[in-house]
Amino acid sequence: MARYTDSVCKICRREGEKLFLKGERCYTPKCAFEKRPYAPGQHGRTSQARRQGRMSDYSRQLRAKQKARQVYGVLEKQFRRYFAVAIKKRGLTGLNLLQTLELRLDNVIYRMGLAENRAQARQMVSHGHFVVNGRRTDIPSMLLEPGDVVTVREQSRGNGLFNDLAEKAEKKNCALWLERDLKTFSGRVLRLPERGEIDGNLDEQLIVEYYSR
Ligand code: SF4
Repeated sequence: MARYTDSVCKICRREGEKLFLKGERCYTPKCAFEKRPYAPGQHGRTSQARRQGRMSDYSRQLRAKQKARQVYGVLEKQFRRYFAVAIKKRGLTGLNLLQTLELRLDNVIYRMGLAENRAQARQMVSHGHFVVNGRRTDIPSMLLEPGDVVTVREQSRGNGLFNDLAEKAEKKNCALWLERDLKTFSGRVLRLPERGEIDGNLDEQLIVEYYSR
């Protein structure tokens, strides 16, 4: 299973904004973007300054697509597949795409506040700590539907990872389109997320334009 292994802070610096990919650290002065708010690499400062204000339509579309891909931790091929699914659905393609990304199991766990970030949620799922509708799964990209129930596997609850889960999760918000019960380590998808409930400063229109060239 291919995945991005370089520093995720470089992604924020390349995009020129904080994408909050790490969790708590992103809110502290240790955040790499706070210290070095310019693109990574030897010529990061100069190339970013030169680029500002004269981006072509294509670069804006490309950056919007790359940003969404990186926020959800999805590689190009899979992202393209999500777009193909979104285009076949009824309604707005851009919104369909974002809803599909939001319904990934790793994202749902993150949105429920059960993980620090999507990368951690992804690792927890691939280590087999979660059960969906009573069946154990280790596929972070699994797409959920309204009504699906996600639970921490009973055998995993004694794992150090979940010791203070309820305590930590209580401090985090659960998305309004989801519900969670920290006593039973479970949660449910209530409905599809609305556009206003999907944060991350994403521009789905530019992504649609990128794939419609
Ligand atoms: Fe981005 Fe978080 Fe790293 Fe800051 S700490 S650069 S917000 S991933």
